[in-house]
Amino acid sequence: MQFKDLHLNKPILKAISEIKYELATPIQEQTIPLVLAKKDVIASAQTGTGKTAAFALPILQLLFDRQDSGKKAKKIRALVVSPTRELAIQIGENFKIYSKYTNLRTTVIYGGASIEPQKDILKKGVDILIATPGRLLDLHKQDCVNLDYVETLVLDEADLMLDMGFINDVKKIERLCPKEKQTLMFSATMPAKIVELASSILKNPVTIDVTPKISTAVSVNQKLFYVSKTKKMELCLHLLRNTIKGDILIFRRTKFGVEKLEKMLKKNGYKAISLHGDKTQKAREEALNKFKNKQITILIATDVASRGIDINNLDNVINFDIPNVPETYVHRIGRTGRAGNAGNSYSFCAADEKTYISTIEKLTGEAIPVEKEHPYPLDPNAKPEVYIKKGSNKKKGRKSAASKKNKKRWY
Ligand code: AMP
Repeated sequence: MQFKDLHLNKPILKAISEIKYELATPIQEQTIPLVLAKKDVIASAQTGTGKTAAFALPILQLLFDRQDSGKKAKKIRALVVSPTRELAIQIGENFKIYSKYTNLRTTVIYGGASIEPQKDILKKGVDILIATPGRLLDLHKQDCVNLDYVETLVLDEADLMLDMGFINDVKKIERLCPKEKQTLMFSATMPAKIVELASSILKNPVTIDVTPKISTAVSVNQKLFYVSKTKKMELCLHLLRNTIKGDILIFRRTKFGVEKLEKMLKKNGYKAISLHGDKTQKAREEALNKFKNKQITILIATDVASRGIDINNLDNVINFDIPNVPETYVHRIGRTGRAGNAGNSYSFCAADEKTYISTIEKLTGEAIPVEKEHPYPLDPNAKPEVYIKKGSNKKKGRKSAASKKNKKRWY
């Protein structure tokens, strides 16, 4: 469907044609008319589906159509709550692009950055506010944010907000907005707690589901490597040297693991950069930009740090650790594949991760092809490894405090 058939107005159509959006994506086709009709919506949609424009375009149109004339101070009429700074910034950038030919003003506020400049911008007045929950509440407490005029509230990546412990903040924010408002909720997955939250704050919502069926993997060449935990680094280097071409997103479960791998790859002459929650805001933005601009071809990230960020259409994904939530595997490998071309995923499975593979295969209903031809095969009958510190005179199998500490270091 073309955007003009969605009854968007000229300034918005002009802005999106400039950035070469030709056809609306399925989530946009379904969501835009509902938002324009002021309905509450709950949508299952992942990053990469075009969900930001699905809410941003009709919100801009609603605000544009009912602007105060004259020089009245601007009031926050649309509020988008986002779990992470990166996602908030990305949403803000999109709003700015789409509203280029309107005089609607957008700003983004998030934690981990100086609060004073954010206060100054808010003082000048904005129409659309994009915020992370903590900083929003903080600024509200300091009387720098007035949510009394919010007409549309968007809760983006609601499941991630839940995972990150923001659920009470989100409820509080919802209560700070007027009772009579439109609420739109987007979530990659729909666990029971999200459905519960939706039923407590949305009014007669329309449900939209554009989640790709769980077996999107047809366009991804998946390979599973059984490998000892201690040999994953070597396997990774082996594949980088001999097999993998193009850009690579490597997932690790922990921040510690991400940093360790980054160090190791750099030591071996690879340009790699990492993304995780302990990095400063500036460092995270830099990492992301360098990867997007292709200055660096290897990005190592935790799931939380990479969620909601527009890094898709990659050549390769490496699951250095197998995720313990099967849907996460599907999300991770779904980031590969360029227009028409299949992407590649390489999953490294140690003995203690085998059960994760079976839950993934149960979810997708298909076996992940196993790559047997590699230099570091794991004995298929190997039991989960217990690391015993070299030179330790403790009896094998009994974990000392030192060995426990060292065991932790493997990740
Ligand atoms: P999102 O799912 O909102 O993160 O969007 C993913 C990417 O798709 C972003 O880079 C958008 O700029 C882009 N995008 C969104 N809608 C369209 C569209 N209709 N046509 C082409 N690209 C789009």
